[in-house]
Amino acid sequence: MKLIVERIEQATPQIRVLRLTGVDGAPLPPYEPGAHVDVRGPTGVTRQYSLCGTPHDRCGYTIAVKRELASRGGSAALHDQVTIGSELEVSAPRSLFRLAEAAAEYVLIAAGIGITPLLSFAYRLKQRDAHFTLHYFARSRDEAAFLPVLESQEFAAHLQLHLGLEPDEVAAVVRQRVAAALPHAQVYTCG
Ligand SMILES: Cc1cc2nc3c(=O)[nH]c(=O)nc-3n(C[C@H](O)[C@H](O)[C@H](O)COP(=O)(O)OP(=O)(O)OC[C@H]3O[C@@H](n4cnc5c(N)ncnc54)[C@H](O)[C@@H]3O)c2cc1C
Repeated sequence: MKLIVERIEQATPQIRVLRLTGVDGAPLPPYEPGAHVDVRGPTGVTRQYSLCGTPHDRCGYTIAVKRELASRGGSAALHDQVTIGSELEVSAPRSLFRLAEAAAEYVLIAAGIGITPLLSFAYRLKQRDAHFTLHYFARSRDEAAFLPVLESQEFAAHLQLHLGLEPDEVAAVVRQRVAAALPHAQVYTCG
């Protein structure tokens, strides 16, 4: 389908958040948290992007695109050539990363741009009033997207932000948090 870029936010120096809406304002196909779409950008390159808005919002899709420094055209074009009003060819949402129903606890572990599908999980878990923690690893605050929403009253109690850790420290935190989870907790990672 053809979607229009309605809003653009530079969330970090390398991450651009795009809100896409239908050409005629009709509701968009529904999707499950964790779903992604194929986006064909202005250079004709098709890449996948996780939907990271509130999953029940049928008026628009939100994607966050990290600029890949060695990009062959996918992310770079979405940063450099797309402006408000640009038209993009977008597939129907596809779900390859699914959230289990009714676990005793959910541990979400996101690193960098891997926050995107886990943010949509967090929206759904909050809606279900589930027991969950979102661990978000980033190099610095400046490189962490979505902090205004994650640190808002809605999510602050669920967020554990881990900034500037070395790889072995990241591994230690992940091991510790997974070991401390309840039996039969569901653990999801991205990034
Ligand atoms: C299900 C899914 C969801 C995703 N969600 C997101 C998301 O929410 N946000 C996001 O930013 N990204 C997401 N991605 C990644 C995204 O689809 C793109 O891969 C990313 O934007 C880079 O595309 P690019 O064209 O800019 O870079 P590419 O040109 O594809 O380059 C990527 C890397 O491949 C290397 N490379 C270049 N040429 C070759 C070659 N010939 N052979 C092997 N390697 C090569 C490059 O050096 C570079 O490091 C997702 C991917 C999947 C599969």
